[in-house]
Amino acid sequence: MPYPELKMLIAGEWVLGSDGASEPVICPADGTEIGQVPHASPVDLDLALQSSLDGFNLWRKMTPHSRQAILEKAARLLEDRFEVNSANLTREMGKPLAEAKIEMQVAIDLLRWYAEEAKRIYGRIIPSRFPGMQHEARKLPIGPALAFVAWNFPATNVMRKVAGALAAGCSITIKPSEETPATAIAIGAALMDAGLPAGVLNIVFGVPAQVSEHLLGSTIPRKLSFTGSVPVGIHLQQLAAKNMIRCTMELGGHSPVMVFKDADIDAAAQLCAMGKFRNAGQVCISPTRFFIEEPVRDQFLAAFRKHVEAVNTGNGLDAGVTMGPLVAERRIDIMNGFVADAVKKGAELVVGGGRIQSPGSFYQPTLLSDVPDTARIMTEEPFGPIAPTAVFTNIDEVIARANCLPFGLAAYAFTSNPKTVGILKTEIESGMLAVNSLHVHSVETPFGGLKFSGYGHEGGIEGLEAFLATRYSSEIYN
Ligand code: NAD
Repeated sequence: MPYPELKMLIAGEWVLGSDGASEPVICPADGTEIGQVPHASPVDLDLALQSSLDGFNLWRKMTPHSRQAILEKAARLLEDRFEVNSANLTREMGKPLAEAKIEMQVAIDLLRWYAEEAKRIYGRIIPSRFPGMQHEARKLPIGPALAFVAWNFPATNVMRKVAGALAAGCSITIKPSEETPATAIAIGAALMDAGLPAGVLNIVFGVPAQVSEHLLGSTIPRKLSFTGSVPVGIHLQQLAAKNMIRCTMELGGHSPVMVFKDADIDAAAQLCAMGKFRNAGQVCISPTRFFIEEPVRDQFLAAFRKHVEAVNTGNGLDAGVTMGPLVAERRIDIMNGFVADAVKKGAELVVGGGRIQSPGSFYQPTLLSDVPDTARIMTEEPFGPIAPTAVFTNIDEVIARANCLPFGLAAYAFTSNPKTVGILKTEIESGMLAVNSLHVHSVETPFGGLKFSGYGHEGGIEGLEAFLATRYSSEIYN
């Protein structure tokens, strides 16, 4: 099955850019060009903005039940196209096909869950202190929304925003990553084929900074939802501020893992290795700083190493592959820099540590031990298949080290002591905490960060709330 032709969705039409600009899409597993993604011109972006306003005024007046019928039909179409869409996700992003399928399934589940939940957007009646007066707080869709998203989850990053916005009654214009366009287009195609009215969803591509400046320079959008790095998130917030556009920011993390000596060490090591190398470590909630209680250091490292050596790196479409390439060549030097810096500062390279010589952008699964907190990899988000480990001696120390960075997305702990769990639940500065697992997201639970990892949520009723405004009204009834 060939990689599809790539078009933008503007005002209900599948189009190329009106000035003919485009850029290549590269398959990270072999470095070949697999497609050309069109760029929107300023004229195209203005058309998208106007259609998004028109689409909003149509979509918001439909009942949640009619909106749900369209979204449910789109979910069924995505199921029909599951195999093809999953394979294209792997082609453009690199992750193993099994991971692509899990991601596509989560995207479908998100769409269904939001569509159903939108029927339960309740307001409230507030008893008044004034006789004969009634207060009402009603939830309304906030308006046309904008979204910009990263490439690491081409389906779920897009769906978390699109499903939340559409279910809430908003229209949405999204700029997915130019590196992974086909998956977003496949989601858009299912929605259009299911009967989504023109303008309710627009999909555009281009030079990211130019697209965001143009779209956020308009007063039409009332909401911005962004998934990406902290510096870009801060920049987009500043642009949004000029037009008082409300933001949700899903930004980077650097998740600590605290392995206490009373945990099941072998089970923890196995889970940590599986979690670390999922999507080649290119996951915002990837476990990235491993703190091991001193007495169990050797046992944990030996068990972890065994799993690192069992990782089977290769083209994600090949059977048996458990880790694909990095998304692009540019990530290889970044990984090499992290390893060299850590070793120079005293860390031991246990296994891995270099690129795999092949046409694609493959990097060895890598384990570092005794990494000092001053190493760059302990302070900068690695976003790659490197596991830096260090020891700790007591709970106060490990909490301080876990909390010492500006990030606060996910945190993980392995322990059998309920008292330790209780302390971590109040003291760890992160939006999400998992104990004895790495599970921090489900479609029905709130996903989001603290501190520089951003604010607002996707998933759960909080994800719907992100696209709603509260309208207060009063009336005198006698
Ligand atoms: P990035 O911020 O450079 O780019 C992310 C996406 O934003 C890109 O696909 C790009 O198209 C777009 N972008 C970049 N500059 C833009 C601009 N000026 N205007 C509009 N869009 C712009 O980040 P990256 O390094 O490519 O992606 C990885 C980052 O994303 C990591 O920091 C990761 O933790 C974060 N991330 C966070 C979450 C979350 O939910 N918290 C999820 C996935 C990824």
